[in-house]
Amino acid sequence: MFRDIFLISIDCLRPDSLGSYNLTRRQTPNLDAIAADGAIFTQAVSHAPFTTPALGSLLTGRYPNHTGIRLLLGQLCDAQIPTLAEFAGRAGYLTAGFPPSFILNSETGLARGFDYYRDIHEGIDTGRGGCWQTGDRLNEALDAFLAHAGRRRVFCWLHYFDLHDYHLDKTVPIETSYARDLRERIDRDCMGGLIEVLRRHDRLDRAGLIVTADHGEDLFQHGHRGHGHHLYDSVLRVPLIWNLRIPDQARRHFDQQVRHVDIMPTLLEIWGFARETWPTGLDGRSLVPLLRGDAIPERDEPDRETCSYAEASPRQLFEGDIRSYRSFAGPEQLSLRTDGFKFIRYDDGRRELYDLRADPLEMTNIADARREWNERFNRTLAEITANENDRFRQIDFNQGDEEKIMSRLRELGYVA
Ligand SMILES: [Zn+2]
Repeated sequence: MFRDIFLISIDCLRPDSLGSYNLTRRQTPNLDAIAADGAIFTQAVSHAPFTTPALGSLLTGRYPNHTGIRLLLGQLCDAQIPTLAEFAGRAGYLTAGFPPSFILNSETGLARGFDYYRDIHEGIDTGRGGCWQTGDRLNEALDAFLAHAGRRRVFCWLHYFDLHDYHLDKTVPIETSYARDLRERIDRDCMGGLIEVLRRHDRLDRAGLIVTADHGEDLFQHGHRGHGHHLYDSVLRVPLIWNLRIPDQARRHFDQQVRHVDIMPTLLEIWGFARETWPTGLDGRSLVPLLRGDAIPERDEPDRETCSYAEASPRQLFEGDIRSYRSFAGPEQLSLRTDGFKFIRYDDGRRELYDLRADPLEMTNIADARREWNERFNRTLAEITANENDRFRQIDFNQGDEEKIMSRLRELGYVA
């Protein structure tokens, strides 16, 4: 049985780039070794196509419209919302969070529940965008934390950002620089370094590892390079690998849709919290029955229990100024994804519906041909958006801070 849990999220990581998901690309040996005796979810999805809202959902078990984190910064996780880290603490873990970038600093509310949270105030001058730190710095901080933790059980979250700027190398096509940075920066440096730290502290053999991405990355499948522009699967689908050595785990590959919001309920069940002690309002469900072999029927119907909500606001993300971070005008795109279908609704009235089994790349919009489905999806969307969290608080920026933040966001490729 595992002793510690390390929740690892990797920015921009597409599942089809991993050897464990794509047998023709065996270039990620450290990640593949974690998958080798773990559970691999082939249809895992995120709830936002950019970093902060996606990680807000991962760390709370709630959709972005229920956490209040809906843009990159300035929208804060409601202080009333219980976090995964708080429950880890109650389960007896010493908890630590290692964000790589200032956009995830404790002002977001994501630090709540972590005994130790390492805010980022200065980035290394890599020439690749300001104020984020490479994975080796995160691993050094983890090394120091584990030395301090002694023999206590730990729950740690690390988010590696080192793949984010693969496109800055203009000497090779982006498919080449993406694969190279994944192989060298993420798999060799970040994951290899992490494994080395765990081995040094004699924690590797009983480390429970959960590996995912905050979102995927569009490599021009839908007209863009990057993420944040839309809600297609190139950015919503993420890898999800559980290596927790669950007793009686039935099999290793799971092809049903699972969601980031399912991770917190799954851990609550594994940690032994009785259902009546779980927080109310979680948007996910425990995956323990699925892992143990209880069949959960695949659903095409937009059933609130199993379908996945996501939202995006590309105009406010890419064209906004500091004011749009203070007053969010609502999402510009909403989507619901079931095992078989994806429904997308835009604020200008457009609707899209895709048959994911026949058309996994989402090329043929069948919304007009299947109008009855639009209504079903609209009804479920209305339920999920009925009780949105609008208790946004404002960060009290002074003008110098505003200019610094805007220039950092611009360097990261956000904000005009
Ligand atoms: Zn991200």
